[in-house]
Amino acid sequence: MNENLNEIQISGIRRFASKVKMVEGALSLTIGQPDFDMPVAVSEAMIRAIKEHKTVYTSNEGIVELRDEICRYLKNTFDIEYDKDEVCLTVGGSEGLFSVLNALLNPKDKILISSPAYPAYENIAKMIGAEVVNYGLNDDFTINIDEIREKIEKDNIKYLMLSFPSNPTGAILIKKQRDELADLIKKKNIVVITDEMYSGIIFDDYYSVAQIKEIKDKIIYVSGFSKLLSMTGIRVGYVACTEKYMKEIMKVHQYNVSCTSSIGQYGALEGLRSSLDDAEIMRKSFERRKNYCMKRLRDIRIEVNEPMGAFYIFPSIKKFNMTSEEFCEKLLNEEKLGCVPGNAFGKLGEGYMRISYCYSDEELKEAFDRLERFIKKNFPNC
Ligand code: PLP
Repeated sequence: MNENLNEIQISGIRRFASKVKMVEGALSLTIGQPDFDMPVAVSEAMIRAIKEHKTVYTSNEGIVELRDEICRYLKNTFDIEYDKDEVCLTVGGSEGLFSVLNALLNPKDKILISSPAYPAYENIAKMIGAEVVNYGLNDDFTINIDEIREKIEKDNIKYLMLSFPSNPTGAILIKKQRDELADLIKKKNIVVITDEMYSGIIFDDYYSVAQIKEIKDKIIYVSGFSKLLSMTGIRVGYVACTEKYMKEIMKVHQYNVSCTSSIGQYGALEGLRSSLDDAEIMRKSFERRKNYCMKRLRDIRIEVNEPMGAFYIFPSIKKFNMTSEEFCEKLLNEEKLGCVPGNAFGKLGEGYMRISYCYSDEELKEAFDRLERFIKKNFPNC
């Protein structure tokens, strides 16, 4: 067996979600996918693609119409510029991340990854045999640029992983941090992978290092349609970067998957052409639900930073003096409420839990009633 896999565990998110499923009557706030149906125009385009027999391999990088449309979307929505030849369609953002990291990293190379973070980054890096160096975040989950600078200088680090809006914290970049980061990237010999899977779900102004033209040759951008258009099962994501990286990424992508689903690509194409209004309806609904969850958490005096994007909240449970695993198990056993323990997102996720609010108003109300009862019963003095 590949010894690099010894250190890899099945995702703590999936593990806990399975536990919740075993408890009868449990309400789960564990899942990271929108609770909306995929836009009708997207499903119709996919059905049309089947009827028109567009069911064969596409080119490895994907259909040109979609790559073109992605470039227009990135430019118009985020002021990010790529050419269609700098875009490759992938099997969800997941395969994009896998192909990028496999193209970049050698065993023993060091990569800087935040803690907490989406678990795939660290685990893919470990599969390759690369060395993960974690950087912590500020108390409000914003990025700590001084710590990143220090680690790059001290540890001879070549790669930096960024992700905004963040899963699990919902943090985003503000302009000042984006500019400081861009300045740092300009000065250092470093390649940055920015995973912006949730860029379409944001409650404030959007800033990304991918907007800064002078550092374009150091940036690899990963995103996709899973969350934007509520099509997690269709598996369409993309990577955008300059040719120097793309030609290597294509080698991994080609021998791994050949191309992503042709049908899914036609769906995503229609989505960008006609369903961005549906995406905006979802975004507004997430913002409204985020506000509700924040109010309920503050009412029971749980310490929490307001998320500015994605659909997660990452409250602190430190004052209850239990590990995140113990807290979430107890909450599940006593009140039948499932949240993901923070340690599923890395060492520094300990002391937190992740709440996904992709659930109906009724489910959220019931979930917070259960959480409130749990806190009042077990921690009356907190
Ligand atoms: N990046 C982040 C931050 C995510 O949270 C996820 C999925 O939850 C992905 C990437 C992978 O997305 P996809 O479903 O497109 O593979």
